[in-house]
Amino acid sequence: MGQAIKNKSETATHTHQFPFLANAGEMGTLIETKNWNTTSLGPIDTWPQSLKTALSILLHSKFPKFLFWGPELICFYNDAFRPSLGVDGKHPNILGSPGEEYWGEIWDIIKPLIDQVMSGGEATWSEDQLIPFYRNGAIENIYWTFSYSPLTDESGEVAGVWVTCMETTEKVNTLKELEESKKQLEFTIDSANLATWSFDMKSYTFRSNDRLKEWYKLDDEVNPSETGIERLHPQDKSRILEATQRSLNYESGGKFDEVFRIINPSNDEIKTLRSIGRTWFDDNKEPYQMYGIVLDITEQAKIENENKKLSAIVSKSNEFIGAANMDEEAEYINPAGLKMLGWDDYKGRTISDCIYEEDLPKARKLLNSLMHKQSLSDEIRLFNEKTGKPFWIKWNIFPIRDEFTNDLLNLATTSVNIDELKRNEVAVREALNKIEESEKRFRKVANSAPVMIKMTDATGRINFVNKMWQEFTGVQASDYIGQKALQRVHPDDHQAAVSLYKSCVKRREEFRAEYRVRMHDDSYRWLSNIGVPRFTVDGSYEGYIHACMDVHDIKLQEQQKDMFIGMASHELKTPVTSIKGYAQILKKRYEDSEDEFLLNSLSIIDNQIRVVTNLISELLDLSKMTTGGLDLHPERFALCELITEVIKETTLINPKYEISYKPGNTSEVVADKERIRQVLNNLLNNAVKYSPDSRRIEVRSEFTQSTATVYVKDFGIGINKVNQDKVFNRFYREQGKNEKTFPGFGIGLYISSEIIKKHQGTIAVTSEKGEGSEFHFSIPIEPSNM
Ligand code: ADP
Repeated sequence: MGQAIKNKSETATHTHQFPFLANAGEMGTLIETKNWNTTSLGPIDTWPQSLKTALSILLHSKFPKFLFWGPELICFYNDAFRPSLGVDGKHPNILGSPGEEYWGEIWDIIKPLIDQVMSGGEATWSEDQLIPFYRNGAIENIYWTFSYSPLTDESGEVAGVWVTCMETTEKVNTLKELEESKKQLEFTIDSANLATWSFDMKSYTFRSNDRLKEWYKLDDEVNPSETGIERLHPQDKSRILEATQRSLNYESGGKFDEVFRIINPSNDEIKTLRSIGRTWFDDNKEPYQMYGIVLDITEQAKIENENKKLSAIVSKSNEFIGAANMDEEAEYINPAGLKMLGWDDYKGRTISDCIYEEDLPKARKLLNSLMHKQSLSDEIRLFNEKTGKPFWIKWNIFPIRDEFTNDLLNLATTSVNIDELKRNEVAVREALNKIEESEKRFRKVANSAPVMIKMTDATGRINFVNKMWQEFTGVQASDYIGQKALQRVHPDDHQAAVSLYKSCVKRREEFRAEYRVRMHDDSYRWLSNIGVPRFTVDGSYEGYIHACMDVHDIKLQEQQKDMFIGMASHELKTPVTSIKGYAQILKKRYEDSEDEFLLNSLSIIDNQIRVVTNLISELLDLSKMTTGGLDLHPERFALCELITEVIKETTLINPKYEISYKPGNTSEVVADKERIRQVLNNLLNNAVKYSPDSRRIEVRSEFTQSTATVYVKDFGIGINKVNQDKVFNRFYREQGKNEKTFPGFGIGLYISSEIIKKHQGTIAVTSEKGEGSEFHFSIPIEPSNM
């Protein structure tokens, strides 16, 4: 190149021998100064005019030109062609040399073209043709656009080949690069799952890549921008239209970046897209073009959604959820966790800050062990910073590891607050200890108690008998365990005792019974059994505890007493009946007498005899009852009429008392009329007897479809609340200073209640001391079996 410049400067001062070489540049000078004598062309002045003319045109042209001349195809070229030969290549030696000598590497490409032209053929045209040849010290890939055209000599024969050419290597390479970068861009768009679009507002044309067409299900025929709007999710439509409108406004800068959903019309599938676009504006600030890319972020949106849900769960959870880095610094603690700790924030806090002081060594040990474990779960105490109080949690810790390297990244925890559970556990343990303690105490007491005690479990099997019971029966406790209760009961008492017991167990009621039990020597003794159901703390049934007392001697005495009462009342009945008869005859005979004393005495005798008669008949009934002889003789009768009758009789004997009666909706009943009369008599007589200061007695009856109920209400002395149930017991009488003044044995109500029970009915009292009492009984209108 340096050589070329030097030659050029020499040219300026050179005086030309040949006019066609004047001002012909570096190549002109080279031609002029070259020794042509050694070439087949010979000295310049011998050259034909046609060659000189051609060279003049060639050398003065600024367009790169080359010439092959003569049969040897001697090479000429101009300054414009010269750079195409590069440095350290063919230039300048190729000048004046036969073509084949210097174009050997491309000769087989160009020779056919040269031959075509030399042999009178048409000029050639080659565009961007690759012709690699030696230059700049190496074979280079050089592209050319060139034409070979014939050059005729004076004789009109083709004597040379004009080569008009232009090196297009740079253009071709640029095009190639462009093509390459286009491919790269397409690849990038394709692999990034991007859709692209453009909209030319002037021509109103919308272009998009296939992916966008596929996403939007765009048909070629339809208007794509309208279809695009149609596909938008209804909830997103107005927002996207507004944003588009905004980006068309010059002031907005033309930017568009929105996330929205489109719906596939064929299957309603929803895609979440992010569109990033840009509007271009002309000089009048009018939009003329929009470009955009669209990303399918459906999966990402799903994940984001999942994440949102997850974080909502975490923040709403009642569990302590947190994460710490490997330096044990808190990176997250959910609101429930912060509340438990009494913290406002977790920033700058560590795991140790949460742990209750006493449990710090344990926590350290657990954390150290975590390095080799998948997770750990243990109970530990944290503490609330505000209250200073510790609380128990089930500490579940698991490490989060790097998916690829397995390195520990974080420590995470989801821990349950078990403070209440723990406290309950302690309470339960204490309660159990207490129960165990009291059980021990119970066994001790039970074994030394002067009563026989046995216990059954929920299935009715014996699980405890005390010492006294073992001594009574002569059976070891170990032989009792697992046995059924009531097995040693006398055959005559067994059935009644078992059926009563069963019905009590069914209703979990107290069981009271008297029966004979076989002793160690096979003799029988009467026992009085009181059994009460047992329940656990939480109310579940556990069986019965029975206390049995030996009432054998009392029972025998009672039997003797009953026998005596039976006999005595029977023996008394005949003389008293005859006294009563004579007293009534005397009363009749002297009813018109004027002897007041006589009349008064007869009246007193009559009243007292009635009292004695009543007492004797009560005693006789009692005797019948204890020997099981109270039989019923049911008949159908009008209960109201019976009540009216009894009231009438009572009023006749006690004329000062006012007895009212409200019969209600009356009905007939099937019952033992005389026994019911006896009950009514008893209740009315008691009402009179225990109302010394009140004259009012109210009777009413009520009938339902199945039962008849009779109420007898007085306003007399009343009964203590605690004794109200006892009044139906045999020989029970209220103890008080008044009571002694009222005659009676305390068996009237006992007999009444036995009569009502035999009628499958019930009898009860409600009373207020000093206010009066109301007795009532109910019997079935038509008893099922009597
Ligand atoms: P008694 O022959 O002693 O009256 P009862 O069996 O009829 O025997 O009554 C038992 C006890 O009930 C009585 O002694 C009395 O204390 C109490 N009693 C019964 N009826 C009444 C009543 N209407 N008012 C107050 N106390 C009553």
